[in-house]
Amino acid sequence: MTTPTSPRVILKFGGTSVSTPEAWMGIAKILRERQAGGDRPFVVHSALSGVTDLLDQLPGAALAGGHELLLEALAARHWELAASLGLDGRELLAADLEELGRIAAGIALLGEVTPRIRGRILAFGERLATRIGAAWLRRVGLPVVWLDARDLLTSLPPGRENGPSPWLSAECSPALDEELRDRIDALPGIPLTQGYTARNTEGDTVVLGRGGSDTAAAYLAGKLGAARLEIWTDVPGMFTADPRLVPAARLLRRLDFREAQEIATTGSKVLHPRCIPAVRERGIPIHILSTAAPGQPGTIIGPVGEQGASQVKAISRKTGVVLISMETVGMWQEVGFLARAFDVFRRVGLSIDLVSTSETNVTVSLDAAANLLDEGVLETLLTELSTFCRATVVRPCAAVSLVGNRIRALLHQLGPAMEAFEEQRIHLVTQAASDLNFTVVVDEDQSEKLVRQLHAQLISEHGSPEVFGPTWQQLREEDRSTPPRALRWWEKKQDELLAIAAEAPAAYVYDLETVDRQLDRLGALRPLSRVFYAMKANSHPDILRRVRTAGAGLECVSEGELDRVFSLFPDLDPGEVIFTPNFAPREEYAGALERGVRVTLDALHPLLHWGDLFAGREIMVRVDPGWGKGHHEKVVTGGRHAKFGIPRFELPELAALAEKAGATVVGLHTHSGSGILTPGHWARVAAVLAEASELFPAVRILNLGGGLGVPERPGQEPLDLDAVSRGLEAIRAEHPGLELWVEPGRFLVAEAGVLLARVNQTKGKEEVRYVGLATGMNSLIRPALYGAYHEIVN
Ligand code: ADP
Ligand code: ASP
Ligand code: MG
Repeated sequence: MTTPTSPRVILKFGGTSVSTPEAWMGIAKILRERQAGGDRPFVVHSALSGVTDLLDQLPGAALAGGHELLLEALAARHWELAASLGLDGRELLAADLEELGRIAAGIALLGEVTPRIRGRILAFGERLATRIGAAWLRRVGLPVVWLDARDLLTSLPPGRENGPSPWLSAECSPALDEELRDRIDALPGIPLTQGYTARNTEGDTVVLGRGGSDTAAAYLAGKLGAARLEIWTDVPGMFTADPRLVPAARLLRRLDFREAQEIATTGSKVLHPRCIPAVRERGIPIHILSTAAPGQPGTIIGPVGEQGASQVKAISRKTGVVLISMETVGMWQEVGFLARAFDVFRRVGLSIDLVSTSETNVTVSLDAAANLLDEGVLETLLTELSTFCRATVVRPCAAVSLVGNRIRALLHQLGPAMEAFEEQRIHLVTQAASDLNFTVVVDEDQSEKLVRQLHAQLISEHGSPEVFGPTWQQLREEDRSTPPRALRWWEKKQDELLAIAAEAPAAYVYDLETVDRQLDRLGALRPLSRVFYAMKANSHPDILRRVRTAGAGLECVSEGELDRVFSLFPDLDPGEVIFTPNFAPREEYAGALERGVRVTLDALHPLLHWGDLFAGREIMVRVDPGWGKGHHEKVVTGGRHAKFGIPRFELPELAALAEKAGATVVGLHTHSGSGILTPGHWARVAAVLAEASELFPAVRILNLGGGLGVPERPGQEPLDLDAVSRGLEAIRAEHPGLELWVEPGRFLVAEAGVLLARVNQTKGKEEVRYVGLATGMNSLIRPALYGAYHEIVN
């Protein structure tokens, strides 16, 4: 039974923990258990997962005039959750969505956006989500009282000049607030409010920095004098490394505030870095728990225990790190060099994270999460620094940290682990004065491997059972409450695969049923008129046949691909083929036009120099929208740093050249990257192309390219095709005369293939066991080329 003197417990639920009806059923159960156990719960929760990212894109979309689609996607996402909980989302969220729409329209109209408005926009995710959460919990009989977080948390005035934005990364006081506590205690039910959100003394809505719902909950724990703060998330505790990177990461059963703080600030996303200081002073313990596996004990973070033996407790990683290296020969003769250099950083408003110095070089790291690192700011920084030293930027980098108490006492044991650095270029090394971390900065694409290696050498086998619990993998297997995931085709067809392996030491095997399924899924998207398969993804004849059987066309980028297509399908209607070469010679265009296939130009050059080829022809044009997207920088094919596409400012010139040559532009195309999992992307592309089509009266086709991502790693969410489709519906409605085409490659085949290989030999070297296969980089180069991830299964 709960009474007015029962302990107050703050429960914070993160994005993935509030995004599905199942998650909400779990939350209701947890709240009932807390009440039955004699606690008084107070709920703080985040926006639905991915929503804050969408809101973050809203100002940009509004400036480009494309916010309507984003707003629709946002609304649909919330209506859908509401509907699946039996609520009328349209009515429940009408006022908030309308306000958000008005703000976006205002940005579009004024053509500008301030941090103050950005803060106001970002807070909508939590507002919308809590409206649904509170309504549903009340519906199932829990006496929930919805509170506006802005009435509970007031942000502090910005403390530092050039500090983090007071609207986007606000801070509040966690000091006990008796008046607030009494007000909350007097409420007749379970209070529920938004994370991430506060109000400043001027009355503006502000947010606490990305991931800041944890911190909102911690402030409230401090203000209300809570007995405990529970952080409910998608992993059952704080682990010795990010479990999504290192499945063998072990649960940290207990941590003191200092260590947990260090793990949080060195990059572990599971706790927002500002969360611990807010509860630490009052000694309020934090429990990290998983909504998917509520029975597991999780991690308990509390005041400093006895100082046990020194031990590395975690390997953390922070990506998006940018280094600035400053070199000057006479640095130490020059009084005030550091003061002068650091003053430049202060003036441009960049906060420095790590520093290392030698006699001629000072290197500092900038944390992308804490800084607004646009190109303009970096350019100003370099220009100013170059007046007195040689300054260069090194990126993208990642900071990999070993965290634990008295790390210095451990350095002598790190010898063997240091071998992991043998093949690495280390840009910077620092060791915190607090003796809690040892950090190296390496190239970002090397960092995952380094974390795994260091983890294997320093933690996997050495941890004592009081501190180190089971591995993430073990916990997942133990947890029977998680529903079994659907088997993948290669799990279902294991016997067939083993039979193939008995015949051949190594083989690529493709499952055509998977190709069919993906073709069907795309075929079911109503706004799309046509699908063309980008055959560079896989040109196996059987796959091409399957694609043709399903009625999809083919997209080729080289003469060789055209040859293959026409030798496989001699009677093929050339209208079923798109040819999109890049920097090809004249003869290839001539050959393709002769064949009668649809030719896409991606530069002015062909029309400018070989205009005669295109007289009387229908052509398509590849537009560079000005930005790209993709799972790795090397697969981003739009924007200033990609060689593809015609920039928008050149389109009027292209229109004139086409007219002069007597060619008709009938289609516009964009392909801005690969492995994209944000559903709003294609609608955004379509909006740009639709706008560009105003220059070309004969355009009837918008080819939105491919890039449709598929999950690569366990736990990654698949692309929400319904959301893609909803965004495109809106474009179709606006431009009924334009057909929408897509040209997926990987989307059709990535999940259909496995590389099967026999084990040739094994060998052991100390703790490392090497398994040598009858295959290698010769047959799977993607990991080496751009860090692609491939699950390996025995
Ligand atoms: P929420 O939306 O619930 O706030 P976050 O995504 O912000 O959740 O944080 C949880 C994620 O933190 C996990 O899914 C995990 O991938 C990541 N993470 C990174 N490092 C660690 C670590 N050392 N222990 C646990 N989780 C970690
Ligand atoms: N929704 C906010 C974000 O995504 C805050 C949070 O989830 O903690 O950053
Ligand atoms: Mg979080």
